[in-house]
Amino acid sequence: MKLKSNDPCWCGSGAKHKRCHGDRRAVGARPVPIGNVTPPRSVPDHIVRPDYVTTGRISTSRKPQIQDAESLTRLRHACAVAAKVLIRTGEHVAVGRTTEQLDEIAHDTYIELGAYPSTLHYRGYTKSICTSVNGVICHGIPDDRPLEDGDIVNIDVTAFVDGMHGDNSATFHVGTPRPAMIGLIETTREATLRGIDAIRPFEPLQNVAEAIETFAASRGYGVVAEYGGHGIGATFHADPHVNHCVVRGDDSFVLPGMTFTVEPMLLTGRPEFHQAADGWTEHVDDNRPSAQFEHTVLVTDDGAEILTVTDDGRTAVGTLADLARSGSA
Ligand SMILES: [Zn+2]
Repeated sequence: MKLKSNDPCWCGSGAKHKRCHGDRRAVGARPVPIGNVTPPRSVPDHIVRPDYVTTGRISTSRKPQIQDAESLTRLRHACAVAAKVLIRTGEHVAVGRTTEQLDEIAHDTYIELGAYPSTLHYRGYTKSICTSVNGVICHGIPDDRPLEDGDIVNIDVTAFVDGMHGDNSATFHVGTPRPAMIGLIETTREATLRGIDAIRPFEPLQNVAEAIETFAASRGYGVVAEYGGHGIGATFHADPHVNHCVVRGDDSFVLPGMTFTVEPMLLTGRPEFHQAADGWTEHVDDNRPSAQFEHTVLVTDDGAEILTVTDDGRTAVGTLADLARSGSA
């Protein structure tokens, strides 16, 4: 059921949704001006590059990524590095800090951990992370705009190490969290975890979309249909395409050993968006904020395991245990 603006808020406050976690006036609709972008950072020679950096060509094979024990060990490591870079970069989100500075922190952390930033020189992209502020749904380029109190920023981190890509992202509050932004961010986090929790081997991949879309609607949010998760492993972007909205005719099935991302973008406003002149930044037309979370997951014999956690189990995104604790799994 889609939550309407005059319905009681899902949080149990008794207030109407539009006066509580769904307050559109509080989230605002400030356009995010695009700032200046500095040249790409350098990567020391001892860090191994993905082939598209050295050849300039992206593999056109989109074969699903299915891991064996050996490749899985390497992928686990790449995912743990990606989790660590995301946690550390997120700790530096603050009023007045620029996304350019966040890019620098992330870049140095990848290098310190022996990894290459997968986005750097991928299809002409020149930064080590993506930073998507407020109404930017994805692929925002780090620049010199200082973050403002009340902004939200998604940081998307992909690490390439041991021949594998590990990919995760999280959305952070800047300054004092606003209730309406908390509603958006926490719903997006939980939608991501619910999507992952719905994965079962030999069952339709569409279960992921159904879980995400239904939960988002129950909280009054839309889901971006045009972007989805992707197979990942030795190849950065592979099959399957993981829909976050139910699409008629999607007959993909989930197989044990498959690795892919789940990364829904939730909307407070209308779903129309456009690409900025930089060729990357995707911005909603109505400037209303959107949020995104992302994990890389492994299909197991009875469900899915989140790979993008540190060796001691930390993540800026959340775990299935968090979902169970929220009492809604
Ligand atoms: Zn509420």
